[in-house]
Amino acid sequence: MRFLAEPKGYTPGEFAGFVEGLEWNDWRPKFVTLHNTGVPTLVEWLDPNHAAKQRIEGQKHYERDILHWHSGVHPFVAPNLIWNLCDLTKDGVSVSCWNHLTLGIEMISDYATEEFDSGAGAQVRDNAVAAMAILHRRLGLRPDRYRLGLGGLHFHKECGRDHHDCPGRNVVKADVVARLLKEMAVPDHAAVSQGADQSTSGESTCSG
Ligand SMILES: [Zn+2]
Repeated sequence: MRFLAEPKGYTPGEFAGFVEGLEWNDWRPKFVTLHNTGVPTLVEWLDPNHAAKQRIEGQKHYERDILHWHSGVHPFVAPNLIWNLCDLTKDGVSVSCWNHLTLGIEMISDYATEEFDSGAGAQVRDNAVAAMAILHRRLGLRPDRYRLGLGGLHFHKECGRDHHDCPGRNVVKADVVARLLKEMAVPDHAAVSQGADQSTSGESTCSG
């Protein structure tokens, strides 16, 4: 069982403390893959008629009980909190090309139409950058030096066979990587990079 019984929301500071306590023994991701939900949009997410936790529970139900995935994306990032739905130390289901190689980070928004650089969209962006910086440092990963299926920050859309334009076009990878490198250089988080994994063994790559 890789879905957590109870989804939990963390501030970036709390998330850093949580990640610091995790151990990746059976499985270790080689890179992070970034997504946006598309549905719900941020406007839908922020609709006061739906409590955030209800939505997260709904997503778990959809992935686990309807799609019958053994796991899902890892954190869901909202404007205020980083929601954890699945065990971050086990592989998830988010991108068919590299499920076994990646941690999947979902940003709540449809960035094909919603803004990435202002308002609630920018709050999601900043929380996602914080969450990714914490995970990169804890796992000794780098977001730059991208090589398809091997290393560096991936976008779901780079998995050609999924035919999924995700995240939407308002998310520009060079901008995200620059923000991530800047955040990773800030020394005041609890997470500390250890044991940088420089291995470049010939893992399977995306065929798309
Ligand atoms: Zn995606």
